[in-house]
Amino acid sequence: MKDSYDIVVIGGGLGGLTAANRLARAGHAVLLTEQHSQLGGLATYFQRREHIFDVALHGFPVGMKKSFRKYWGKDFADRVTQVKSIRFDNPQYSLDSTFDTSDFSAKLTGHFKISADTVKAFFAALAAANYYDDQRETTREFFNRFFPGRTDVWRFLMEPITYANGSTLDEPAISYAIVFGNFMSEGVYTFTGGTDLMLRMMEDELRHNGVDVELSSCAERIYVDGSRRVRAVSINGREVACKAVVGNGSLPRLVHELVGDEHFAPDYLDKLKLVRLSSSSCQVYIGIKEGEKLPFIGDLLFTSTWPEFDAAALASRKISSRTYSVYYPEIRPGTSKYSVVASMNALYGDWATMSKDEYRAAKKDMIEDTLNALSRYIPSIRSIADYTEAATPKTFQRYTGHLAGATFGTKFEGLRPSMDIGKQVGGLYHTGSVGIIMSGWLGAANYGVITANEVDRYLCTSRRNG
Ligand SMILES: Cc1cc2nc3c(=O)[nH]c(=O)nc-3n(C[C@H](O)[C@H](O)[C@H](O)COP(=O)(O)OP(=O)(O)OC[C@H]3O[C@@H](n4cnc5c(N)ncnc54)[C@H](O)[C@@H]3O)c2cc1C
Repeated sequence: MKDSYDIVVIGGGLGGLTAANRLARAGHAVLLTEQHSQLGGLATYFQRREHIFDVALHGFPVGMKKSFRKYWGKDFADRVTQVKSIRFDNPQYSLDSTFDTSDFSAKLTGHFKISADTVKAFFAALAAANYYDDQRETTREFFNRFFPGRTDVWRFLMEPITYANGSTLDEPAISYAIVFGNFMSEGVYTFTGGTDLMLRMMEDELRHNGVDVELSSCAERIYVDGSRRVRAVSINGREVACKAVVGNGSLPRLVHELVGDEHFAPDYLDKLKLVRLSSSSCQVYIGIKEGEKLPFIGDLLFTSTWPEFDAAALASRKISSRTYSVYYPEIRPGTSKYSVVASMNALYGDWATMSKDEYRAAKKDMIEDTLNALSRYIPSIRSIADYTEAATPKTFQRYTGHLAGATFGTKFEGLRPSMDIGKQVGGLYHTGSVGIIMSGWLGAANYGVITANEVDRYLCTSRRNG
């Protein structure tokens, strides 16, 4: 690590990584500092014995292929492959889908008996959704416009999105429309080689482009000069001078802890106070013994025993709904390993107040319940699994520093304060995990580019003005 850089990127999540790469390619001196011992943030992996578990590789929209090609290179884009089968199993329906407009249209007309004209109008409204439109309509109202009272249809359209990012029917329809619309274009995709390979490739690419990547390096403080511009960052107690900072972690922490409220206007802080964090997740990781095989039960299996769509029930500690991501050997060609990752929505408050013993017992129960639930689809799961582990909102908070383990940063209203932060403190920027739209693999990576372009403009203008 040098004493001075043009830009310090704080955090190696997909937004920070992509911003750092873009800025280095533009010729700036960039330091990427990550508190954890490995990159990826929420989109990371971990290894236990011979098992590698992907935390957030359930699937992303096809747009990621273009973003990889433009901002990381062809080698990345070439590894993007479509997920074959997405299954749904709940009291209202059991279906198999490729999760795209044509298949969803066929299911809506065929299985759910919705008229072709209504389905067409729904997808047209989805395609026309624009961030700058009126944002007052909620997803509930949006669904009611096309499918009044059809909670089975709402569930079909909404549940996978809620599983992914915790959004509810009462949030702005625009955030639903953009995320769902991204998937509907061509289905769900994955990265062949797994998250471990992707992050190794990203680190190599960053270093090749001249970025200094420092792991286990926590940024504790951002220093601001008398003209309200960033001047330095304290990293593991060492002061590193810089002209701009991109914070990739939690937005409220960036403002309150790293910079300090005294550097922000009261009305900005008032707006930030209104920003809600998104909910969190629990996961159960199941490694399958060497030599054992899993039957094909779909790549993604959305299951629920709850009678109807209910975002609160999805996040409840009394788990009734799980998404299984099943990893077959093809995800890492040349290997013969299988694993299953079960993901559940969760609330930090349900886990944070437990004693150590209660917490340990609750994690154990969650693993047992998950194995029981999974045995409905894989009856032999208990005899063929040789490793299990659980993560809770506390785990996500610990590894990423996101307040309350928020897995998608903030709700919709966080986007404006995130984008406007540079108007408060010169050279200060935020990227990643806000407002659902700028979250997920595609949203985070693309927001990294948007932010990098802003930083580039700021530095070029500052240079011109001496
Ligand atoms: C369980 C789960 C499953 C998911 N599944 C999917 C999926 O299938 N598809 C999809 O598209 N999205 C998925 N997501 C969401 C997606 O992974 C995230 O939206 C995206 O990765 C967030 O990227 P980000 O840029 O916001 O950075 P984050 O991942 O939030 O990373 C921020 C980084 O900043 C670091 N940091 C924070 N503070 C500091 C500091 N002071 N100093 C140094 N470093 C710091 C953190 O350690 C972290 O590495 C999932 C998320 C979770 C949790």
